Amino acid sequence: MTMRTSSFFSLRSVALACGLALGAVATAQAAPDAKLLAAAEKAQPAVIDNLKEMVSIESGSLNVEGLMKMADVIEGRLKAAGFKTERRKASAGAGADIVIGTIKGTGKRKIMLQGHMDTVYAPGILNSQPYKVDGNRIYGPGIADDKGGLAVMMASLKILADAGWRDYDTLTVLVNPDEEVGSVGSGELIATTADLHDTVLSFEPTAAKAVAKGESLLLGAAGIAQATLEVKGRAAHAGAAPELGRNALYELSYQMLQTKDLAKDIPGVTLNWTVARATGPINQITEKAQALGDIRITQPGAEKKLTEALQAKIASGKLIPDTETTVKVEVGRPAFVAGAKGRALAEKAQAIYKELDRELALTPMTGGGTDAGFAGRSGKATVVESFGLAGFGYHARDEYIEVDSIVPRLYLVTRLLTEIGKN
Ligand SMILES: [Zn+2]
Repeated sequence: MTMRTSSFFSLRSVALACGLALGAVATAQAAPDAKLLAAAEKAQPAVIDNLKEMVSIESGSLNVEGLMKMADVIEGRLKAAGFKTERRKASAGAGADIVIGTIKGTGKRKIMLQGHMDTVYAPGILNSQPYKVDGNRIYGPGIADDKGGLAVMMASLKILADAGWRDYDTLTVLVNPDEEVGSVGSGELIATTADLHDTVLSFEPTAAKAVAKGESLLLGAAGIAQATLEVKGRAAHAGAAPELGRNALYELSYQMLQTKDLAKDIPGVTLNWTVARATGPINQITEKAQALGDIRITQPGAEKKLTEALQAKIASGKLIPDTETTVKVEVGRPAFVAGAKGRALAEKAQAIYKELDRELALTPMTGGGTDAGFAGRSGKATVVESFGLAGFGYHARDEYIEVDSIVPRLYLVTRLLTEIGKN
């Protein structure tokens, strides 16, 4: 998915080879801001310490105790950068806190930075996947998604605070505890808070070298919905009178299989059945069964077409007579579409990366969901995603970040914030 444009490098090498037009090319690339770059380099060890500190706290989306410890760490760091902080309980879900930090400046722009402190991992993950440094990689659960993003955000704010930067009306930080479960208790707050700002930078990770030619920013992400397929059958003794039962589990399996490829004919939407449950017990013909399907939306409205197709298919036939099947689709996180103003901001970021002689690709769309969808829901704020660290293995095993992405990302975020402040 990630594309890399290498026009700058090829242009310059052509110019070097021919001995022409060097001056013209050189003016296209501004020199880096030496103070910010030096500050970014100086901050790298502190970022790594902060990563170790946060990875050592297990903070799965249901781990309220761990999430509260994460909130303490974030609040402490924000206070150290001069922010006023507050904590609000997420309105639904496990009941952990959302951390909100605010600081007033002397400029005009209202800027929001967002990230999340929850991970997808179950309690005890650190026993099998501990924090580990190996060359340019640092491993740990959640280290890329999204603790790396939080570390970049907090270190960038500290660098700018130490530099005395005040060229903003308001800086707001919003860190939620439930991104990996659809931001059920924070999505509305993200959307309404983002609406009070001009610009939102979101700090999900960017892809590592193993899977991408270069780092990127993200301009679009799929929306997420959930399909629920339910079958009512009839209970009966599985040994003495199975013929009196109507096996809901068999019917559920049949319906999952006959609908599994439906979305492939509908542009802008995917469906994968990922969870199935049945009542049991083992000696009873299954009375009720339920499947959940993961739906991703890249074209608004595609989920409605999918719902209609699901309903039509289910009505078209069944395996077990007398069973009753229903299906519903509920939309969770909205699709993220950065649009023209998001792209313009991302192009500014590309120019900043060129100051470091680095390329920054712009990824138009990913299948992974992001809270940038909530932030950009109304279209009021300019929203760009993926200011976190380069990493790989998120939602999987052996998750890592790349150390050599820390300094460029700190430089990018601090420089871009100062640029945004100027407008
Ligand atoms: Zn994430």
